[in-house]
Amino acid sequence: RFNQYSIKISDDDQGYSLDQFCIPKHYENDLSHVLIPEGLIHDRTERLARDIISDFGTDAIVGLCVLKGGYKFFTDLCNKMQLLNRNSDQSVPMSVDFIRIKSYVNEKSSGDIEVIGCDNLDGLKGKNVLIVEDIIDTGKTMQHLLELLKKVEPKSIKVASLLVKRTPLSVGYKPDYIGFEVPDVFLVGYALDFNEYFRDLGHICVINKNGKTKYSV
Ligand code: 5GP
Repeated sequence: RFNQYSIKISDDDQGYSLDQFCIPKHYENDLSHVLIPEGLIHDRTERLARDIISDFGTDAIVGLCVLKGGYKFFTDLCNKMQLLNRNSDQSVPMSVDFIRIKSYVNEKSSGDIEVIGCDNLDGLKGKNVLIVEDIIDTGKTMQHLLELLKKVEPKSIKVASLLVKRTPLSVGYKPDYIGFEVPDVFLVGYALDFNEYFRDLGHICVINKNGKTKYSV
């Protein structure tokens, strides 16, 4: 129900020049611009945490982090939720779990979704699961994960994704909580990678031609 309040970044938004922010020297020539500064990500995450806590009431949540891209958003979201929990009259008990999914080689979805390290999913039976993901592109990865999860019969499943891409290839899937709706460009930073590079970049940036060539496999 909070979908309509996601922050929409339009297709012609040129974001911020790299010179206006601090970028690691080793990535200076590999990026076009900053699309979402890390500070804005934190502020938006604070609000998502509030919406999630208010929706769950006092029902316990298992936060399921989709690795690796989701780890920063997951950590920041959990921290904000814990902050709310220790400063209000009611609180939501939280536990954490992790799943690893790999679907991208270079900037193309390989179509072959590989789930690694999900042998403990049985422990989610009867639980309220909050899947925390970095980005929904076509939506295929999430559809696949949801099918897998439903088999272990959780009490409920909600999905929070920091980013949702506007793409003609979308299968139409929309998560319950969205940070930002973004243009159909390849994004890196804040744990989003290009062949494992750029996870050590704080801001969400658009990769340039040089970066793609340099880090292609
Ligand atoms: P989908 O199955 O929705 O097409 O793809 C979702 C997955 O693709 C995400 O979990 C993420 O790993 C990867 N992905 C999609 N778009 C981007 C992007 O712009 N940047 C990065 N780094 N990964 C992306």
